[in-house]
Amino acid sequence: MNGSIRIPTPINEPVLSYAPGTPERASLKARLAEMAANPVEVPLIISGEEVRTGDVHEIRAPHDHQQVLGTYHSAGPAEVARAIESSREAWETWSRMAWVDRAAVFLRAADLLAHPRWRDTVNAATMLGQSKTVHQAEIDSACELIDFWRFNCHFAEKIYADQPLSAPGMWNRSEYRPLEGFIYAVSPFNFTSIGGNLCGAPALMGNVVLWKPSHTAVLSNYFLMRILVEAGLPAGVVNFIPGDSSRITDSLLGHPDFAGLHFTGSTGVFQMFWERIGGDIAQYRSYPRIVGETGGKDFIVAHPSADPDAVRTAMIRGAFEYQGQKCSAASRAYVPESLWARMKDSLVEETRSIRMGDPTDFRNFMGAVIDEKAFRKLSAYIDRARESEDVEILAGGGYDDSKGWFIEPTLLLAHDPKYETMCEELFGPVLTIHVYPDDQWRETLALVDSTSPYALTGAVFSLDRDAAREAMDALRHAAGNFYVNDKPTGAVVGQQPFGGSRASGTNDKAGSALNLLRWISARSMKETFDPPTDYRYPFMNAE
Ligand code: NAD
Repeated sequence: MNGSIRIPTPINEPVLSYAPGTPERASLKARLAEMAANPVEVPLIISGEEVRTGDVHEIRAPHDHQQVLGTYHSAGPAEVARAIESSREAWETWSRMAWVDRAAVFLRAADLLAHPRWRDTVNAATMLGQSKTVHQAEIDSACELIDFWRFNCHFAEKIYADQPLSAPGMWNRSEYRPLEGFIYAVSPFNFTSIGGNLCGAPALMGNVVLWKPSHTAVLSNYFLMRILVEAGLPAGVVNFIPGDSSRITDSLLGHPDFAGLHFTGSTGVFQMFWERIGGDIAQYRSYPRIVGETGGKDFIVAHPSADPDAVRTAMIRGAFEYQGQKCSAASRAYVPESLWARMKDSLVEETRSIRMGDPTDFRNFMGAVIDEKAFRKLSAYIDRARESEDVEILAGGGYDDSKGWFIEPTLLLAHDPKYETMCEELFGPVLTIHVYPDDQWRETLALVDSTSPYALTGAVFSLDRDAAREAMDALRHAAGNFYVNDKPTGAVVGQQPFGGSRASGTNDKAGSALNLLRWISARSMKETFDPPTDYRYPFMNAE
C-alpha cells in the first residue's frame, strides 16, 4: 500500500463510574450473575484451535473458595511442542506482514474490549476470578489494556518512522525486523491487562508468542485470547497454553527457536529464568531478549511540611486497594513525629472503616487475597508481628479463611526500620510505618534508599520545595516510577510509563516505545546509486 500511514491518535480510555443508576452498572451486574451461574471450560488455543487435554483444574473465586467458576485444561510437553511448531508456521507470514495490517488487528481488539459486550465479560471475569472490585477491574482489564493496545500501535509507528541519514549518492534505510523465533510470555495474576500486553507487544512488532497465563488469572486471560481471535489475529501468532508453569517452561527453554522472554511476576522466578537461559545460551539461534518486571517494596516518605490528609489518603489507597496486591502498592511509610501526631488517629480510624468482602457487592472497598498460598504467607507475617517487640499492630491484624482468603487491612508500626515487613515484599494489605525524628530528614532518605533491594515505585509528600527536590535527588535510583504528593500506584499508559530497576526488573517500561524496541532487531541497509568501478583511490595517482 502506498502512503505514509498514520495511526489514529490514541487517547486514554475513559474510566466508567459504575455508580448506582448508570447503564454500565446494570449491564455489568447482569454479566456477573450470568458468569457466576455458568461455569466456563477453558481450553488451550493452539493454531487457532481449541485443544482439550483432559488434564483439568478448577477455577475458584478467591472470596468464596467453594464457588467454582469453571475449569481449565493444562498443557503438557506434547501441546508445547505443537505450539512451537504452530508459531514457526505463523512466523512465515506474520513476520512479513505490513505493520499497519498488524496494528489494525490490535486497534480492532481495543475497540472490541471497549464495547460493553467484551468489557463486561472481562471485567466480570477479573472481579470473580481475581477478586477485584469493579473500579479495580475497570482500570485494569478494560482501560489499561485498551490503552496498551492502542498506544503501542502509536509507538510502533514512531519506531518505524525513525530512519538514518543518507549521504549523497546513496540511500540508507533501517528495517525493524521481528526476532527470529518465538517469544515466551509469562504473565502474573494481579493485572489482567499485563497478560494482554505481554503477548500483544511482541506480536504487534511481528513476533509470534507462546503465552502462559497465571493459573489464578486463567478465566479473564482466556477471554482476552478470544478477543484477539475475534479481532483477526491469524492462527498461531499467539498460542494460549495455560498449565503447570515448571512443566511448560521445562519443555520450551533450551529450544533453538526461543528468542525472548516477556515476563512479569516475582523476582525469584525471574532470576531463575535468567539463570536457566544463561545456562543454555549456546543452544539458541540468537541471544534471547530477556524482559522482566518483578517485585517491589514501594515507599511513601513524608516531610514535616506534608499535608496529613493527603498522606493518609495516599497510604490507604496505595496500600489497600486490590488488597495490596499491586507491584506498586505502598508497603512501607516513613512519617516524621510531628506529622504522625496529627494523623495517627485518623489513619487508624479510616483503616478500620474499610469494608471488605465479595466484590460483586459494590459497597466493598476490598476483596480477598488471591489464594491459600498468599493467605498463609500473609497470616504468618501478621503472627510474627504480633509476637515481636520491634513492631506493634495499630489496626487490622485479623484474617479469616472460612469463606474466602480474607486478610484485614493491617497497619504495623515498626520501631526497628529494618524490621522484616519494612524490607520484604509481602504482596498483601499490610502497611508498615516507621516514625522518624523531624530533624532526621536526610538520614531518613538514605534509609529509604538502602532498606530494600527493590526500586519500583515510591512517593514523597512535601509542601516544602527544597525538601521535595532533596528527595528526588536522594531517591533517584530508588524507584522507576516516582511520585510527588501522590500515591505510588495507578500509573497510566502514555502518561507514566511503568517499570523499576534494581531487583524490580529490567525497566523496559511496559506500554512505551522502550518496551517495543526489545522485540525488534534492526537491519541497516545501504544502497549506492553509482557504485565505484575501479578499486584504485585518487591518492594513488602519479604526482
Ligand atoms: P509469580 O512469580 O508467582 O508468577 C508469575 C508467572 O510466573 C505466572 O505465570 C506463574 O505461573 C509463573 N511461574 C511461577 N513459578 C514458575 C516457575 N518455577 N517456572 C516458570 N514459571 C513460573 O508472580 P505472581 O504471584 O503471579 O505476581 C505477583 C508478583 O509479580 C509480585 O512479585 C509483583 O511485585 C510482581 N509484579 C510486578 C509488576 C511490575 O510491573 N514490576 C507488575 C505486576 C506484578
